[in-house]
Amino acid sequence: MADEKDLTITEDAEVEEKEEDYEEVCYVCRRPESKTGKMIRIPGQFSICMNCLQRSFDSMESFGINPEDLSGLGMDLKDLKKFPNINIMRWGDMQGEIPKKQKVKKKKAKEAESSKPAFDLKSIPSPHKIKAGLDEYVVGQDHAKKVVSVAVYNHYKRVAAMDLGDVDIEKSNMLMIGPTGSGKTYLVRTLAKMLNVPLAIADATSLTEAGYIGDDIESVVSKLLAAANNDVEKAERGIIFIDEIDKIAKKKNVNQRDVSGESVQQGMLKLLEGSEVEVPVGANSKNAMVPLVTVNTRNILFICGGAFPDLEDVIKERLNKQASIGFQADLKDKYDEEKNLISKVTVEDLRKFGMIPEFLGRLPIVFTLEELTKDMLVQILQEPKNAILKQYKKLLELDEVLLEFNEGALECIAEKALEKDTGARALRAIIEEFMLDIMYQIPKDNNIGKVTITREYIENTGGPIIEMRTAVPLEARPVLQIEESEDKHDTESSSNN
Ligand code: ADP
Repeated sequence: MADEKDLTITEDAEVEEKEEDYEEVCYVCRRPESKTGKMIRIPGQFSICMNCLQRSFDSMESFGINPEDLSGLGMDLKDLKKFPNINIMRWGDMQGEIPKKQKVKKKKAKEAESSKPAFDLKSIPSPHKIKAGLDEYVVGQDHAKKVVSVAVYNHYKRVAAMDLGDVDIEKSNMLMIGPTGSGKTYLVRTLAKMLNVPLAIADATSLTEAGYIGDDIESVVSKLLAAANNDVEKAERGIIFIDEIDKIAKKKNVNQRDVSGESVQQGMLKLLEGSEVEVPVGANSKNAMVPLVTVNTRNILFICGGAFPDLEDVIKERLNKQASIGFQADLKDKYDEEKNLISKVTVEDLRKFGMIPEFLGRLPIVFTLEELTKDMLVQILQEPKNAILKQYKKLLELDEVLLEFNEGALECIAEKALEKDTGARALRAIIEEFMLDIMYQIPKDNNIGKVTITREYIENTGGPIIEMRTAVPLEARPVLQIEESEDKHDTESSSNN
């Protein structure tokens, strides 16, 4: 049953990689054995395909060298002296092996592939299981988690159905809109770990139309292949997350070619829809020295994410226009104060923002993430499985010291993070700033049993509450002079800079 599948995240198990799992690559033309046919192995860890070998013999012949003289490459000097002006390269002299990074993992035998579908319909966790798994890590964003769970479930069901040669169900690529630091990347990362599929995270800002400075659009597939350990089959079922997608919106009022905006959207169309792309193995760009492999993007799930900063204005404009028409004419500034306006987004708004219709058409699932509130930030601090505070507590626990944060301290950290306007990303920086002194001072004194961080300590108006391990008379308790310590001044001055 799908429900019984354990969804706890396990670290990617080190899979034992065997040499025979990788394909040989021709030393001359760099194509893998699956393309070239049988290869000849030459002493010194090289392989060469029949085609290239034939061509080298042909060229030798054109120099007047008889290939038969070189039979088995076991020529002696006598023979070489026949060609005084020609230096013949000896393969054996060229030591070294092609790095594994540039080798392609063999596809499994065809029979095995057809008898066992890549994704077993029964093993895809059902949407509520996926959501429950996400809940353990991602705080809030209930709507987003629900949409993602259903979309992912449908996607892999579709993959399985395709493997069974059944109906063609449409692909469910997604567009995720949410402010920075609200958990877009984190959501996708958690999802990929949970489903144990390879994930590539790319930044749309670095992509340009092929031929211009920047990464080619197909480099995202290359990244996925690397994440799948060069296993094409595994990569073809992976997830590609393209962040900052709003940065490739069509530029307004440009005279020259928009190589990093509209053209990138155009270039991505065929990837999103599903096509065969030739990608370099172990490198970002195609060149003569890297082998190429064909990856089909038909079953790759694309998730695009972005903050779309000015989208709210577009939505507001549309809503105000609607509201001021007809009998129900409303106040013009009705939506100015409206929170979470972004959740009212429509495809039309995105088009106005600068995304081209063909691109939006290939991302049928659009959803938004909410801006994190103070309460959510407090939860993020302490509730997720790998919450930051849990990590610090664990660290001090190793010194047998109990670390506590009182209610005021948690709220104060969340308030400071809200001021920075970078979502949950600000939390770690704030905590690290004041925890430095604690982590420095506490191990000095073995008698300290418990430290409670207070709002006053974070606001720099007081110190933490220190409790000793055994009953020590008050006068004998060491004063933890954190405020006066030089380190504090150092950190303060550096943080001010
Ligand atoms: P963005 O939305 O800009 O992609 P990220 O997903 O990279 O933001 O979030 C940055 C960090 O903040 C994450 O690594 C994660 O630790 C934390 N975080 C953000 N949102 C959440 C959330 N909803 N629940 C738990 N942690 C979160």
